[in-house]
Amino acid sequence: MNPMERTHNCEMKIKRFAYWFIGFSVVVIIWKLCIIESNLVSLQSFRKALELQEDQLELTQQQIVLFENWLNKKNNKKLPTIYAVTPTYWRFVQKAELTRISQTLRLVPNVHWIVVEDSETKTELVRNLIVESGLVATHLNAKTPPFEQLQSKEPRWKRHRGVEQRNTALKWFRDTLIPNKDKGIVYFMDDDNTYNVKVFDEMAKIKKVGVWPVGLVGGLNAESPILDEKTGKVKGYRSGWKPNRPFAIDMAGFAINLELILTKTEAWFSYKMEKGFQESEFLSYFITKDELEPLADNCTKVYVWHTRAENPAVKGTIPGLEV
Ligand code: UDP
Ligand code: MN
Repeated sequence: MNPMERTHNCEMKIKRFAYWFIGFSVVVIIWKLCIIESNLVSLQSFRKALELQEDQLELTQQQIVLFENWLNKKNNKKLPTIYAVTPTYWRFVQKAELTRISQTLRLVPNVHWIVVEDSETKTELVRNLIVESGLVATHLNAKTPPFEQLQSKEPRWKRHRGVEQRNTALKWFRDTLIPNKDKGIVYFMDDDNTYNVKVFDEMAKIKKVGVWPVGLVGGLNAESPILDEKTGKVKGYRSGWKPNRPFAIDMAGFAINLELILTKTEAWFSYKMEKGFQESEFLSYFITKDELEPLADNCTKVYVWHTRAENPAVKGTIPGLEV
C-alpha cells in the first residue's frame, strides 16, 4: 500500500466509525425518549383512571391530595418536607386566619400542615377548611387546661399560648415518624402571622436550626439575630424584650430539622417556663448559639410578620351562615 492509499484507508475507517457512532446515538436517544414518553403517558392515564374511578374507589379528598403530592414529589425530590405546625382556637377571626395561611401554604411545595385545635373535639369548621385547602394535612386537637387558659380581661403575655397544641404535634412526630428515614423541617406557624412564601424556600437549606428576622414584634419594627461580621455567625439578638435570653427569637423566627425533633425526645414546651422564655428554653435542648444558621440573606430580609387581627365587635350573627 502506498502512503496515499494508506491515508485513504484510514479516512474510510474514521468515517465508518463516525457513521456507526451517530447511528448508535440516534437509536439510544429515541429509546430514552420512548421510555420518558411512556412513563408520562402511564402516569397521566393512571391519574385519569383514578379520577374516573373516584366514586368506586371511594377515594377521599385527602387520598387524592396524597397521590398528587406523591407525583409532585417525583419532581421536587431534593426538597425536604416542611411540617408547618399551627395551633388554632375558636374566635370570630379563626376561619379568616386559617383561610389566609392555608392559601399561603398552597404556594409551598412539599408542605405537610399539622393543625392542632385548642378544643375538646375536632370541629367541622376546621375539618372542612382543611379538606378544602387541598393540602396534605393532619388534624389534631388538644384543649388548653382551664387553669392555664387566658382569661378575657387578662393581658396576653400573662399566659403561655399554644403550649398544649405544640406538644401534641411533637408527640405526633415522635409517635408517627421514623428517625433517619423521614426527612423534613419543623416550623411552628401560628395562625395569625403573615408569611412570605420565601421563608419556606429558606427552610429547605436548614441542617440543624435556621433563624431569620421577624417583623412587627416585641415593640420593634423587627427583631433579628445580630451576626458577627467576621464569622457570619449569630453573636446576639436585636429584641425589644430581654435580648440577653440565650435565644431571643420569636416562634416565627426559627425552624428545626425533623431529625433533632425525633431524636431529642426530652424537648417539650412547658407551662413551668418563665413567661417569654418558651422559645429560648425549647431551642436550648437542640443547639448552642454559635451553631444557629442565619438565613434570609444573612438576616437582612423580613419574610414573616408577627401580625395580630383585631377582635371584631360582632353585634349579631346570621343563623346558619358559617363565617
Ligand atoms: N392559641 C391557642 N389557644 C389559645 C390562644 C392561642 O391555640 O387559647 C394559638 C393561636 O391560634 C396561635 C398560637 O396559639 O396560633 C399563639 O397564640 P397568639 O397568636 O395569641 O399568641 P402571640 O402571638 O401573642 O404570641
Ligand atoms: Mn400571634
